[in-house]
Amino acid sequence: MKLDATKKLLMIPGPTMVPPEVLNAMAMPVIGHRTKDYSNLLEDTIEKLKKVFITENDTFLVTGSGTAAMDMAISNIIRRGDKVLNIVTGNFGDRFANIVNAYKGESIRLDVEWGDMAEPEAVKEMLDKYDDIKAVTVVHNETSTGARNPIKEIGEVVKDYNALYIVDTISSLGGDYVNVDKFNIDICVTGSQKCLAAPPGLAAITVSEKAWEVIKKNDDKVGFYLDLLAYKKYYEEKKQTPYTPSVNLTYAMNVALDLVLKEGIENRVKRHERLAKATRAGLEAMGIELFAKERARSITVTSAKYPEGIEDSKFRGTLSNKYNIVVAGGQKHLAGKIFRIGHMGTCGEREVLATLACIELTLKELGFEVKESGVEVAKEVLLKE
Ligand code: PLP
Repeated sequence: MKLDATKKLLMIPGPTMVPPEVLNAMAMPVIGHRTKDYSNLLEDTIEKLKKVFITENDTFLVTGSGTAAMDMAISNIIRRGDKVLNIVTGNFGDRFANIVNAYKGESIRLDVEWGDMAEPEAVKEMLDKYDDIKAVTVVHNETSTGARNPIKEIGEVVKDYNALYIVDTISSLGGDYVNVDKFNIDICVTGSQKCLAAPPGLAAITVSEKAWEVIKKNDDKVGFYLDLLAYKKYYEEKKQTPYTPSVNLTYAMNVALDLVLKEGIENRVKRHERLAKATRAGLEAMGIELFAKERARSITVTSAKYPEGIEDSKFRGTLSNKYNIVVAGGQKHLAGKIFRIGHMGTCGEREVLATLACIELTLKELGFEVKESGVEVAKEVLLKE
């Protein structure tokens, strides 16, 4: 099969570009997953993950995509009929609600306009209204809308209630500020393929003592592969996983985490903030309206509205086919209405400036009157920041 994907600059909000040293790590020999060598590799990877999550809580690596960890977060705690408050600010918040319903729980939704964030006060009102909410779910960085939720402030609210606090940091961990222990997060989930810049295929999950109490008491649990108690048992006894893990992705994750820790979380977040500012300023200078509300804008993905007359397929098709730059479209009702630029993981000035320059060329080609050079404005931002 012929692939010309190597030429493409991947500017979608995950999977993101993977550095060569991480890709090379996958070429290490496959080793048995019931060996001391694999136990050492897994333990080392988990210790590094804990540093990135900033937690003392038990942490597990799961072979599966981010949704596997979301599923694990819900399936292990829920009993038939349990109420879970799902904060829904986009497609991935909605996915948590769907998972709750799939496990026959009762999803109580706090729906927020897509592109905006949830108010901690509104979360408090819901927790006061229903006195038996078992857990609250929130997506930190709603990749589908380019808006982020104030997970620290929501955590301050949830900690005064009995409910478990479940946070999806799939497109924020390693790019935006996450501190599992300080934010009182009981279950935190992430994926390998976004800000951590590892290949897709692994998920990770952290579990607090408060969450373990609920999980251990749950005698109505449905599911098998994602049973957290099995993961706990194997890790405690052997530093292994209950079923065959992706050994080669574990190597890759280990090296990817080295790179995150070497750069330092604070530096990494600042880099993402700086690139987000440049991207937003560049788009606005060209006359493109941003989609997410100013107060809620993500620092790992920027969403923008298509101007009148610019068609999604033509815009993204030209960008990809002519300029080899891949950006994402909108999801669900936002399909055709917005496009999304991922500036996460290893992304730097070069990638952001090249993307803005080619967006400018594409827009002009499609007949849009570009107000001002986006690249010039983005450069000024980068020089200042
Ligand atoms: N949650 C968020 C915030 C995401 O961005 C994604 C993927 O884009 C997911 C969940 C689902 O992750 P996966 O596709 O790895 O299952």
